[in-house]
Amino acid sequence: MKLILLGPPGAGKGTQAEVLTKKLGVETISTGVMLRAAMREGTELGKLAAQYIEGGKLVPDDVVVGIVKERLSQDDCKNGFILDGFPRTIAQAEALNDAGVEIDKVLSLEVDDSVIVDRLSGRRECKACGTPYHIKNKPVPENGKCVCGGEVIQRDDDNEETIKNRLKVYHEQTEPIKEYYAAQGKVVSVDSEGTVEETTAAVDKALGL
Ligand code: AMP
Repeated sequence: MKLILLGPPGAGKGTQAEVLTKKLGVETISTGVMLRAAMREGTELGKLAAQYIEGGKLVPDDVVVGIVKERLSQDDCKNGFILDGFPRTIAQAEALNDAGVEIDKVLSLEVDDSVIVDRLSGRRECKACGTPYHIKNKPVPENGKCVCGGEVIQRDDDNEETIKNRLKVYHEQTEPIKEYYAAQGKVVSVDSEGTVEETTAAVDKALGL
């Protein structure tokens, strides 16, 4: 299964990807997790990405396309993968297509903007492995550490002003991707405003799992 997860920030892409990765037995490729790792390591890529991520803007297409292509060429992606946070522009979707990558399905997680700010302000993430948590919906284990033992933190870009920018960018640049894939008959949409479990059940049904 070659699956794309689409939806605004806070739609639950990372959370559902975690469940789907286990069920489908394929890796999740998250551009956000890869870019934040590069930022922490202080690499050239990380320094470049920080300039965009901190303001809620998109990292340039050629940069992101490059890291995704490189990642997808690795052996563990041969039998399928889940893309979380990529593509985010029509140009990225076209680059994927031009690279000969055949997507099977695009799962669109639907959440109204009014729910997003509240969701994102309660969101936390493992600094080491990127596993997502939420203070109400998916609490951190009792010892305060991620299941991998890593430190759980709040992302710098989960603040109100940046969230508003990210939502604007989503509607302007990412949402048109839905039409792009709908024209190929690949989009399945799921209501993602309920609990994690409700959304997981709806995802299973939509994907026939
Ligand atoms: P995410 O973890 O998916 O919410 O991504 C966090 C931030 O990383 C975004 O707000 C962008 O600045 C950047 N980013 C992640 N994926 C992409 C992408 N496919 N294209 C451009 N920028 C991206």
